[in-house]
Amino acid sequence: MTSSRLSVLAGPTAVGKGTVVQALRARHPELLVSVSATTRAPRPGERDGVHYRFLSDEEFDALIASDGMLEWALVHGQHRYGTPRGPVEEALARGEHVLLEIDLDGARQVRASMPEAQFIFLAPPSWDVLVARLAGRGTEGEEEPRRRLATAKIQLPAQTEFDTTVINDDLDRAVSQLAHVMGLE
Ligand code: 5GP
Repeated sequence: MTSSRLSVLAGPTAVGKGTVVQALRARHPELLVSVSATTRAPRPGERDGVHYRFLSDEEFDALIASDGMLEWALVHGQHRYGTPRGPVEEALARGEHVLLEIDLDGARQVRASMPEAQFIFLAPPSWDVLVARLAGRGTEGEEEPRRRLATAKIQLPAQTEFDTTVINDDLDRAVSQLAHVMGLE
């Protein structure tokens, strides 16, 4: 449980952050989930201002220059993603509970600027198995598993930087645990 009103959820790629956050939001509509800004193009079905604020490089630069980003990062070496500061600070000032779903780089920046926030790591159910398999004890052996192992090696120690780890084994269970540690239930 936490008394902090700002929670930050991060975790490795493909751990299911989006699904967990969607389910949590359905259960707790009072929770404000920050809408990130991004320079990537919308995917089919994604709406501006709902899934992301889709910005040009110039618009993203301008937000950074005006100190309008709480944090931002280049994700997967491709596109920039960031948390617009205004809506988060306004919601916190109103006493609302705010959740950021961001990458590890972004979480570290928030920790530096807002150490009172609560940091939650969403982990896969079988990290050891994943790492062992990717290390070559299984059947794979080409470039992709090596790349994923490199990523896993970076992400595994990052877990210890977080206040809490929630294991995404079963969706309902993970959402309940998340709601509990955030003080929503
Ligand atoms: P996608 O392009 O698949 O929607 O998201 C790719 C990655 O960007 C995810 O790992 C997600 O956590 C990260 N991300 C989304 N929004 C933000 C943000 O505002 N800040 C940071 N640092 N990362 C973000």
